[in-house]
Amino acid sequence: MKNITILGSTGSIGVSTLEVVSAHPDRFRVVALTAGNNLEMLKRQIETFRPQMVSVLSEKLAVELDRSLSGCKPEIHHGVEGLIAAATAGDAHMVVAAIVGAAGLVPTAAAIRAGKDVALANKETLVTAGRLIMDLVRDKNVRLYPVDSEHSAVFQSMEGQSRKDVLRIILTASGGPFLNLPLDQLSRVSIDDALNHPNWSMGRKITIDSATMMNKGLEVIEARWLFDTPAERIDVNIHPQSIIHSMVEYVDGCVMAQLGVPDMKAPIAYALTYPERVPTGVNPLDLTTLSGLTFFKPDYRRFPALKLAYDALAAGESMPAVMNAANEVAVEAFLSGAIGFIDIAATIARTMDAHESHTLSTIEEVLITDRWAREKARELVGLVRR
Ligand code: NAD
Ligand code: MG
Repeated sequence: MKNITILGSTGSIGVSTLEVVSAHPDRFRVVALTAGNNLEMLKRQIETFRPQMVSVLSEKLAVELDRSLSGCKPEIHHGVEGLIAAATAGDAHMVVAAIVGAAGLVPTAAAIRAGKDVALANKETLVTAGRLIMDLVRDKNVRLYPVDSEHSAVFQSMEGQSRKDVLRIILTASGGPFLNLPLDQLSRVSIDDALNHPNWSMGRKITIDSATMMNKGLEVIEARWLFDTPAERIDVNIHPQSIIHSMVEYVDGCVMAQLGVPDMKAPIAYALTYPERVPTGVNPLDLTTLSGLTFFKPDYRRFPALKLAYDALAAGESMPAVMNAANEVAVEAFLSGAIGFIDIAATIARTMDAHESHTLSTIEEVLITDRWAREKARELVGLVRR
C-alpha cells in the first residue's frame, strides 16, 4: 500500500490522479486532499476516498465544508497553514503536487522537508526555486518524480542510461491553438480561442501558457533543474500531434523517445508506481492510423514567451521567479479580459526588464521576489488595460 496526499485534488491533474488511484484500490490509500474553493467536488472526493485530513482556501470555506459533511469527517484545515499541514501529514509516503502556480511552492517544499517523495506536476515550484528545491531533495534524500508529460518522457528515456552520456534533451511542444494563425491576427484572438487547446484538456492557466508557449518555457526551466542539464542542451521541437512526449539524444547519436496518446494518466501513474507500470485505461497508440508525425523549430516572433524563458535562465536565479510571477498576473489579466493575448508576453518582458537578477538563498527570498514581480506586473497591466 502506498499512502498518498494530493495537493490540488479538484484540478485537472488532481482528478486524473484520483482516477488512477480508483483503478488500483489495492495499491493506494489517500491520506490528505487539498482544494481551492470547489467544495462540491471536494465533498464527493471525501466521501469516495475518506482522507484523514483536507484543506481548503479560507476559514469561511472550512466552516461551510464542516457544516455540509455528514458521515465521514476528516480534520479540516485552511489557508497556507492548512496546505502545509496536508503536505506533511502523518503517514503519507508520497505527495502529488498539483496546485497551479507559485502557490504550490511552499507546500511542496514542506512535503520535501518532511521527507515525503513528491510527484511533481506543479512546474512553477522548480521555475521559481529550482536550485533550492533540488538542494532540499538531496539533503532530505527524497525522490522527485516528474508528472509533466515531457519530463516523464525524458525521465523514462534516461532509465538505465548514464547521465554523462546525455548530449541533448529535446522537449516536444504541440504549438497550441495559434500555431498556424497568421501572425497579424494574434493580437485579436479571444479568450475562448486561447482556451481551445488542440490536444490536451487542462486547467485554464496552463492552457493559456500552452497558447503563448510560456508553458514550454517553464518546462525548459523545469528540465534544467530536474535533469541538471544546462539550457544550451535543452531544445524545443514543435510536434503538433503530441505523440512523442519528448526525447533524449546521447553522445553516440542514439535518440530515446517515449510515445503514447496524450493522456496525463500515463505520466501520473508512472510517477505513482515507479519503477513498476500499471494499467491506466489510456487508449492504445496505433501508429498506423496517424497521418504522420511532424517536427519543426518554434518561431520566436509567434512565441516570444519561449524566448523569455531562455533569457530568464541565462540571466540567473531570481529572473525565472520574476518571469513566472509576471506570467501569472498577465494570464489572469488576459482571462479577465483586461489585456489582449500579445500583451501577456509584453507584460512579462517589461517586468523582467525592471528587475536586476540576483541569487535566491531561501524560499522566503523567493516569495519576496515573487511579490515584487506581481506588483510590478499589475502596475504594467494597469497601463495597457483596455
Ligand atoms: P487546475 O487549475 O485544473 O487545478 C489547480 C488545483 O489547485 C485545484 O485543485 C485548485 O483548487 C488548486 N488551487 C489553485 N490555486 C490555489 C491556491 N492559491 N491555493 C491552494 N490551492 C489552489 O490546474 P491543473 O491543470 O491541474 O495544473 C496543476 C499543475 O500541474 C500546474 O502547475 C500545471 O502547470 C501542471 N500540469 C498540468 C497538466 C495538465 O494536464 N493539466 C499537465 C502538466 C503539468
Ligand atoms: Mg507538459
